Amino acid sequence: MSHIFPRHTKARLPTVARGEGVYLYDQNGKAYLDGSGGAAVSCLGHGDKQVTDAIKAQLDTVAFAHTSFFTSYPAEQLADKLIEHAPEGLDRVYLVSGGSEAMEAALKLARQYFVETDQPQRRHIIARRQSYHGNTLGVLATGGNEWRRAPFAPLLVETSHISPCFEYRGKHPDETRIDYGLRVANELETEIQRLGEDSVIAFVAEPVVGATTGAVPAVEGYFKRIREICDKYGVLLILDEVMCGMGRTGTLFASEQEGISPDIVAIAKGLGAGYQPIGAMLCSAKIYAAIEAGSGFFQHGHTYVGHPTASAAALAVLTKLTDGGLVERCAMMGDKLQNALQQEFGQHANVGDIRGRGLFRALEIVEDRETKAPFAQQRTIHKALKQECFDAGLICYPMGGTVDGQRGDHILLAPPFIIEESHVDEIVGKLKVAIGRVL
Ligand code: PMP
Repeated sequence: MSHIFPRHTKARLPTVARGEGVYLYDQNGKAYLDGSGGAAVSCLGHGDKQVTDAIKAQLDTVAFAHTSFFTSYPAEQLADKLIEHAPEGLDRVYLVSGGSEAMEAALKLARQYFVETDQPQRRHIIARRQSYHGNTLGVLATGGNEWRRAPFAPLLVETSHISPCFEYRGKHPDETRIDYGLRVANELETEIQRLGEDSVIAFVAEPVVGATTGAVPAVEGYFKRIREICDKYGVLLILDEVMCGMGRTGTLFASEQEGISPDIVAIAKGLGAGYQPIGAMLCSAKIYAAIEAGSGFFQHGHTYVGHPTASAAALAVLTKLTDGGLVERCAMMGDKLQNALQQEFGQHANVGDIRGRGLFRALEIVEDRETKAPFAQQRTIHKALKQECFDAGLICYPMGGTVDGQRGDHILLAPPFIIEESHVDEIVGKLKVAIGRVL
């Protein structure tokens, strides 16, 4: 018997015994192509020697020192490199241990910014119904994922949720994509006015939605309009790039493709690439300056903030992504994956949508392609597909999210950026077998 808390399932899971390149191997030596990088984590694949060497070197030097007493070379170098490649205006980095912590830090920093600048009446957060921002209570309240929120609802602070920008489900057939984007972005202005023009702290969104509905980018112009509205009302724009950042969509930051800069951005997953647990929150010079001129410090902290070994791992990962051409490779292989998926499933009666950017792609499975009607919830098609893929030796990430009362079955693919064309063929081939068995 196991003493570990099971995750989502009572079934006994195989034990991972080793990882190499794009494959994981269980205790019996069975190989699994890591087609989702876990949950969009393993951007470099498994067993990357440059990263493990950097970790070992740091362990041999100093594994940990508390940030109340010391800063460290790897944390400083990582912050410098992140800012060198970050969207315009971002200037400071706060290093944490994962995505939820990065988003919690983002929310608290945003609130503290307004306390320091004599606007303590700003207390509302606005987010979108189609979103996931983490599992700790603060960010769970911000996210719009009904299933995750439900049991904890009495403990969650009130958050406003506006419509997502989800073209496949939300766009009316008689409106243009641009008009659709503007219509849903303008809901932010309506909500700010409803709450009170000077009472909102921040709008929070994932540039490419991950864990609720699978690799959903906004339509062109949506984020530009969101940025305009935030600026008009002095509302901070917090982007959650925990899943879609670190090159996953083909640019280091997903927001680069929207032509806007956030005030605060959270990253994690691909930052440590699974080699160490690490996340980061980056903020603008304006926000940092206000805190510095006010109380002088960010009223926050965890024991493992700025962890030297985690930072050394992330520095090695980031160096490979930026200087090693892996972000460009992700964009290039992402196009190949999209084309291969399109070719195999583009006309499939039960594949309603194939979407995403870079190596962040998803299939939406429907009962009726014409009406977009989903399968009945009880059939849990996404889970059945995950299992069939797993049995066939392919890891893909299933989601059964509900947005605005419409549920869907989604399969997320987020393989390591080092995949070759043969791996693309293997992913598509195994997915075809699994879909054939389940539907
Ligand atoms: N934000 C987004 C967009 C995520 O996808 C996730 C994790 N799936 C989180 C936040 C939370 O990150 P973590 O699980 O590392 O706490």
